[in-house]
Amino acid sequence: MIPFVDLTRQYRDIADDVRTAVGRVLESGNYVQGAEVAAFEREFADFCGCETAVGVNSGTSALHLALLAAGVGSGDEVITVPATFVATVAAIGYVGARAVLVDVDPLTHTIDPALAAEAVTERTKAIVAVHLYGLPAEVDALAQLASARGITLIEDAAQAVGAEFAGRRAGGLADIGCFSFYPSKNLGACGEGGMLTMRSAERYGARARMLRDWGQERRYEHVLPGFNYRMDEIQAAILRVKLRHLDRWTEARRERAAWLDTALADCDVRIPPRVAGRRHVYHVYAVQARDRDGLQRALGNRGIKTGIHYPIPVHLQKAYANLGYGPGDFPWSERLSNETLSLPMFPELTEAETAEVARAVRDVLGNRPGKGR
Ligand SMILES: *Cc1c(COP(=O)(O)O)cnc(C)c1O
Repeated sequence: MIPFVDLTRQYRDIADDVRTAVGRVLESGNYVQGAEVAAFEREFADFCGCETAVGVNSGTSALHLALLAAGVGSGDEVITVPATFVATVAAIGYVGARAVLVDVDPLTHTIDPALAAEAVTERTKAIVAVHLYGLPAEVDALAQLASARGITLIEDAAQAVGAEFAGRRAGGLADIGCFSFYPSKNLGACGEGGMLTMRSAERYGARARMLRDWGQERRYEHVLPGFNYRMDEIQAAILRVKLRHLDRWTEARRERAAWLDTALADCDVRIPPRVAGRRHVYHVYAVQARDRDGLQRALGNRGIKTGIHYPIPVHLQKAYANLGYGPGDFPWSERLSNETLSLPMFPELTEAETAEVARAVRDVLGNRPGKGR
């Protein structure tokens, strides 16, 4: 059996350091938003090449606070894509704004800047660019559009820690970056966690900091209606240990992706895009196959676990029917949902396992000739 992702292998590699870090927090008696969170914020900001970072309790909370810090509220419009995890669109709803969806670029599966430009109105307050699967969106064109129209550009970098665009790291590619430390993300907590990053601390930092802890300026002085979105000390301590290994883990993901790219190059699938100047971190290694469900079944029969990210695009989810979109509105996002299959991908996947996955895909598709893409 080859797992889709196995978090126990990573833990075994670093168990001693993690236990020491957790023990230190347990002994300290400080369990919420203390010295560990402050140190992790500093280290994470440095990692992303940002001025400041604000730790929170999930990626969803980070998105919510990013929109609030940018002053987005009811009646405003926020442009994003339907090809994402539902949290991106949910957060827009939390602040009472309307999600205006635009399709993705067919090559990169990230927001199409030309479509984003067409969707801008006087009510547009923000654009949320999702770095889907770990490949940065076309942020230069979006940043130009945003600054010309006085719009805040937000990165949903939940899948893209360590990814790069023109040598700059995700989190520092827009006005505000949002990260998730959900356990299976490239930098995963042993529980929930998230982070906002900002190139400039002045503009949004103080607001985000207040909002995550009940809108307090000083203790029990609430100047904004805020939230309990604080980060746990134990999670911050564990994430500090893991951050030291992240570059190595990202290289391991990229090495496995390169093996798969080579092995599947002449196969009847589309392999993940390689785009000049953008460093993909392969949160998932997603291929597109015409008979995706057949491929998934056949791999499953051989003991290879796979995933689908995501089977239903957000605009076709029941929960978002009120946005007023329907089938056919976003052809590339819909095609992605129908054809995409995520193969096993994590840093501890062995070379032999990776080769077996590639061999199985080639075997399965080799049995179905004549469907060239
Ligand atoms: C994981 C994820 C989120 C949400 O993060 P949580 O920590 O689970 O709240 C948001 N956007 C994208 C693209 C994600 O992959």
